[in-house]
Amino acid sequence: MAIEFGQAMEEERIVSSTLTHDDEQEGGLRPRLLHEYTGQEKAKDNLEVYIQAARLRAEPLDHVLLYGPPGLGKTTLAGIIANEMGVNIRITSGPAIEKAGDLAALLTNLNENDVLFIDEIHRLNRSVEEVLYPAMEDFALDIIIGKGPAARSIRLDLPKFTLIGATTRAGQLSSPLRDRFGVQLRLELYTPEELQAIVTRTAGILGVDIDPSGAMEIARRSRGTPRIANRILKRVRDFAQVKGSGKVDRTMADVALSALEIDGLGLDRTDRRMLESIIRNFRGGPVGLETLAATIGEESVTLEDVYEPYLLQIGFLNRTPRGRCVTMKAYEHLGIPYQGQMEL
Ligand code: ADP
Repeated sequence: MAIEFGQAMEEERIVSSTLTHDDEQEGGLRPRLLHEYTGQEKAKDNLEVYIQAARLRAEPLDHVLLYGPPGLGKTTLAGIIANEMGVNIRITSGPAIEKAGDLAALLTNLNENDVLFIDEIHRLNRSVEEVLYPAMEDFALDIIIGKGPAARSIRLDLPKFTLIGATTRAGQLSSPLRDRFGVQLRLELYTPEELQAIVTRTAGILGVDIDPSGAMEIARRSRGTPRIANRILKRVRDFAQVKGSGKVDRTMADVALSALEIDGLGLDRTDRRMLESIIRNFRGGPVGLETLAATIGEESVTLEDVYEPYLLQIGFLNRTPRGRCVTMKAYEHLGIPYQGQMEL
């Protein structure tokens, strides 16, 4: 129940980086080719080489692990890889594969060189993970027939395939699984300029009239995350149509974002509540993640995956061995006088 509650809260946040109902038409907004994919230059440069090399050898691409906070384009990149390789992609997720047999069914239905994309791969259960090892390494399935002393194992050959795993927490992957990914790419939060380009592209697809200052205002307040930028654009479009002339400029974006209670840096009420709680209840920290989560009634996983990356990136939060600390910058932003840190 606690988890469901947490998820419901998360869904209501416009700055939530996890998928919500509003993002259902995301498919049409996803770039299809590597050159249409903005930012992540390092990951893209490397992938380009690996894809070309695999194509020259007419082999599947090595298994790829993509990690980083939600909404940064992991699923999109998996689709692009399949597209650039000219193969099909099957999409599933860790929690959706309940039994070893479910995975076996998926694997045996792949065509040669296809991509199997497993989102939230850190949530695969152990028995499923064990089926994955020989599949990744030898393109084989080991099946046990019979029970007890009469049981014997037979090996089934699988088509060669590329596994693309996505996770928000690479640290939670077991090391045997992590080691089987030949390519491991970390996705970073986007710069405002990159997000501005993404917002402009999305506006073009949705037919929204936007000027560069409007796109930049949305970009600056989207916490480095394309999914949030696209979502805010849709809400700003509503405001522009109802309260303005339909055109999105900086003023219109600001009116809409203020109405949504998203501040100049993209923080919403929950972010501010988290920072304020550390300041008021723990004198700015350090405070352990679990304690903090309990204090503000959120899941610690949500705090770590969804809220923290951006607060760390903009230098509002520090992670120390003793817990989380709020920085002077955050005090200033919130307009709270600094009263000294808790004794260390
Ligand atoms: P993740 O799988 O990491 O949660 P997605 O791949 O689902 O993220 O991306 C979320 C949304 O952001 C999609 O609508 C996609 O179109 C958009 N998006 C993500 N990365 C980019 C990018 N680099 N360029 C353009 N759009 C992007």
